[in-house]
Amino acid sequence: MPARNILVINCGSSSIKFALVNEAHSQFTLSGLAERLGSQDAVLHWQRGGEQDSLMLPSGDHRAALAQLLPLVQGAAGGKLHGIGHRVVHGGEQFTAACRIDAQSLQAIRATAPLAPLHNPANLQGIEAALKLFPSLTQVAVFDTAFHQSLPEHAYRYAVPEPLYREHGVRRYGFHGTSHRYVSHRAAEMSGLASGDSSWLSAHLGNGCSTCAIVDGQSRDTSMGLTPLEGLVMGTRSGDVDPNLHGHLARTLGWSLERIDTLLNKESGLLGLSGLSNDMRSLEQARDQGHVGATLAIEVFCYRLAKSLAGMSCALPQLDGLIFTGGIGENSPLVRSKTVAHLKLLGLALDKEANARCIRGVAGSIHAHGHPRILVVPTNEERQIALDTLALLNA
Ligand code: AMP
Repeated sequence: MPARNILVINCGSSSIKFALVNEAHSQFTLSGLAERLGSQDAVLHWQRGGEQDSLMLPSGDHRAALAQLLPLVQGAAGGKLHGIGHRVVHGGEQFTAACRIDAQSLQAIRATAPLAPLHNPANLQGIEAALKLFPSLTQVAVFDTAFHQSLPEHAYRYAVPEPLYREHGVRRYGFHGTSHRYVSHRAAEMSGLASGDSSWLSAHLGNGCSTCAIVDGQSRDTSMGLTPLEGLVMGTRSGDVDPNLHGHLARTLGWSLERIDTLLNKESGLLGLSGLSNDMRSLEQARDQGHVGATLAIEVFCYRLAKSLAGMSCALPQLDGLIFTGGIGENSPLVRSKTVAHLKLLGLALDKEANARCIRGVAGSIHAHGHPRILVVPTNEERQIALDTLALLNA
C-alpha cells in the first residue's frame, strides 16, 4: 500500500493551523496557518519543501480558508488525501480515545461545549467546514482530554460536594494529552522499553504548561484540571492560586468575574511575575542582563514545576524517566537544570554537556551517569493526530 496522506487541522476562533502528514515522512509535506479569519486582514500562510507563500483572504472565514487550502493540499498530496484529523480540545467524559466524526459524535462534541466555551465551538467550526468541503473523506476527532480519562477517581475528583461532579461535570480532565501520549511512547522507544511496561513523568512546557504521570502507556495524573488554568506557572496563566483569591479580589477590589478571569488567564504567569514578557527566551535574555522580575519569574516557574513533578511521582510504581518537551522543555537548558536541581530527593541529576546539546529539535538523554533517566523529546502533536486518524482508517 502506498504511504497515506492525512491533513491535520487545529481550529481556533479566528485561526486554522494545518499540516499535511505523510505516514512515511518525518517532515510535513505542507504546513501553515490561516489567521485573523473573519476580519479584513484574514490571511493564509503556508510552506512546502522550504518555499513559503501567503494569500490575503479579505473577510474570509474558516470555510473560505479551507476552500483555498483544498487545491494546495491536493497538489501536495498528489491528489491522494486519505483522511482528516481534527484537534478537539475537550472530550469531557464521553471520549476516551479518538473517534470517527459522524452525526452522533458531532452531537457529543457539541454537548461538551460548556466545558470549553472558547475552544470547542471553534474546533466545531473547522469540522463543519471540512465536512462540507470534503464530504467523502474519513474525518477523525482527537481530543486533548482523552488520554487523561484513565486517571483514577482519587486523582480526578475535587473535594467539593458530589452533585457538582454528577450533575455539572466539575472534575479534573487534564489537557495536552496528545503531546504527553506522543512523547511517552517516543521516550520508551528511545530507551528500548515497552511503552506498555514503563513509567514516566512528563513536562510539556510551552505557552501552556502541564505535567503528567504515565504508567504502562496510561495517564495516571496530570496537573491541569477542569480548565487549562490549573497547575503550573505558564506564559500568561497563573496556574494554582489560593481558590479564595476570586472572593478576596471581589470583596477587596470589587473586581468582576470577567476581570479576574482575564487577570489569571492573560496577565499572570511569566508575564505577571516578570512584568516584562510571557516568552521564556526574552526572559532568559533579560535575566542575563540582571532584570529582577525576569529572574524571579524563572525561579518561580522552575520551583513550581519541580514541586508538581514531585507530586506526580506519587502516581508511579517506579521512575523510568523524566521527559521534557514543548518550546521551553525542548530548548531551555536553564529551565531544565534549575528544575532538576530541586529534585535531588528523586535522585535526579543532569549531565551538563548533554543538557546544553539538546536544543532546537535535538532529542536525547541528558541525565548524569548512574542517575535516573532524563530525556528531551520534541513533541509532535500533528503526527500523533495523523497516527490516530490512520489507526481509525485501518479499523
Ligand atoms: P510552544 O507553545 O511549545 O511553541 O512554546 C513557546 C515557548 O517556548 C515560549 O515561552 C518560548 O519563549 C519558548 N522557547 C522557544 N525557544 C526557546 C529557547 N531557545 N529558549 C528558551 N525558551 C524558548
